[in-house]
Amino acid sequence: MPSKQDFYETLHVAKGASQDEIKKSYRRLARKYHPDVNPGDKSAEERFKQVQEAYDVLSDSKKRQIYDQYGFYSDNIPAGGGAAPGAGPQPNMNFDSFDFSDFFQGNAQAGGAGRRAATGNAGGFRDIFSHLFNRGEGPEEAPEKGQDLEYSMNIDFWQAIKGTQARLNITRYDVCPTCHGSGTAGGQTVTCPECNGTGSVSQMAGAMKFNLTCPKCGGSGKLKNACPTCNGEGRIAHTETVEVRIPPGARNGSRLRVPGKGNAGSKGAPSGDLYITTRVEEHPYFHREGDDIQIRVPVAVWEAGLGAKIEVPTIDGRTLLKIPQGTSNGQKFRMREKGVFNARTNQRGDQIVEIAIETPKVQDERTKEILRELAGLHPEDPRADLWAKV
Ligand SMILES: [Zn+2]
Ligand SMILES: [Zn+2]
Repeated sequence: MPSKQDFYETLHVAKGASQDEIKKSYRRLARKYHPDVNPGDKSAEERFKQVQEAYDVLSDSKKRQIYDQYGFYSDNIPAGGGAAPGAGPQPNMNFDSFDFSDFFQGNAQAGGAGRRAATGNAGGFRDIFSHLFNRGEGPEEAPEKGQDLEYSMNIDFWQAIKGTQARLNITRYDVCPTCHGSGTAGGQTVTCPECNGTGSVSQMAGAMKFNLTCPKCGGSGKLKNACPTCNGEGRIAHTETVEVRIPPGARNGSRLRVPGKGNAGSKGAPSGDLYITTRVEEHPYFHREGDDIQIRVPVAVWEAGLGAKIEVPTIDGRTLLKIPQGTSNGQKFRMREKGVFNARTNQRGDQIVEIAIETPKVQDERTKEILRELAGLHPEDPRADLWAKV
């Protein structure tokens, strides 16, 4: 997505920063916000994307030059001032709105990106500038790679650990089978889908609003010779079932890429990709922390005091854990390689057991007698440390 972010600010570098400084800062930030390091953290994911986008432009000297000149970047602006007056028909510009959201909304409606938000890397911006700067050269738009699609999928704790196969219904644009993407066939005249017959499209880019003659129909509002199947769009929306294999060890927020299952590109350009983010449901007792499993295990006072071998639940079933004499409440024990198997690293995490000491129900006289006896043997103040520090 294009954005109004300041790429230099995003990468924490000065305007005149060297390529070396940019690369260094990028690496540091990419590590910090990487989705694998921040599973499930939406804002980190967003920052990660911004950092990628900023680096993509600033690391390329040509793109950076354009960015420095115009304050934004588009693949369709030639470096060195392609928008010179007199170079072609000039768009009308209004400076009456600064709202970016209009632009994105308008674009989503016009482009029909599917039910979910699609995250093409340039999407609307590229559209606008291809309209602006290619108009003099002819009505045809350049082939454009299809947009990526984002879906999320809920899986339960055990499916995440063991891996699973699932079917996902996705709605995507596919190449029209009648015209094979060209948009022309037969001999029909239909209402232009780009401008809905109005003959013009208006779009926002930053502070500027452009009113353009519809590039698809050249302003007539109608398309001649349009393919009857897709109304000249070259692609049709359809819902299909995609078989998804989630590998063992998937985390909450893990992102899987299914190549080529995004929207079809225009004019025979390649399709985008489908991205599936897994949402892993919590287990009532096992808590996942990356590949480690955390669990609180109740322990009787005498087990903790005398030491014991206790059975604890693990994801493999019951496993013996030896706790030493004098174990205290909240103490943690690491059970090596009893955590989640991660298919990517080919290793298992650990299980961390936190001890929760339980006090017995004291109802009978004999138990009270023993506890009083115990108190007599330990006259020391259990809060001595506390008093020493307050
Ligand atoms: Zn068609
Ligand atoms: Zn039109």
